[in-house]
Amino acid sequence: MQINVAQLLKEPVGSSRKYQTDEIPDNDNINSIKGALVLVRTNRGLIVKGEMTASVVSLCSRCLKPITYQIDYEFEEEAFPSIDMSTGLSLPVEPESLVIDNTHTLDLSDMLVQYALLTIPIKPLCRPDCAGLCPQCGTNLNDSICQCSHKSADTQWLKLASLKKERGF
Ligand SMILES: [Zn+2]
Ligand SMILES: [Zn+2]
Repeated sequence: MQINVAQLLKEPVGSSRKYQTDEIPDNDNINSIKGALVLVRTNRGLIVKGEMTASVVSLCSRCLKPITYQIDYEFEEEAFPSIDMSTGLSLPVEPESLVIDNTHTLDLSDMLVQYALLTIPIKPLCRPDCAGLCPQCGTNLNDSICQCSHKSADTQWLKLASLKKERGF
């Protein structure tokens, strides 16, 4: 998402603008990013705040089925102009910060993706109780039961945990 902020930079500190974003980012794992953005003029630049929802494509970490799920995230960043509005002279900018370019355009696409990637769960599941794949024959245990024995460490641990609960440990 690119926003021309020339007008907002001419306005007094505290002035703000709201935007809706609905974009398809250039990222294989993210289908779309939607949400509301607000830009607020500060004495140094702009505060950018957003509440986003991204649609993520991934594989279930247990059964490897392709899944699509939504993540919600928020962010707040400060963006700094790279040239002075009144004089047109270049201003020093920190390499890590969000920069408004010399045509007064603020490009938020990378930032929207970076924050989305930080929010993606490490082990997404197709459903909370996904049974996963049989470690011996590879059968998807959500769809069918195979002939192998399924005393995985997980279920053993759960049994132990419920036993402890029953006995009041
Ligand atoms: Zn699954
Ligand atoms: Zn099996």
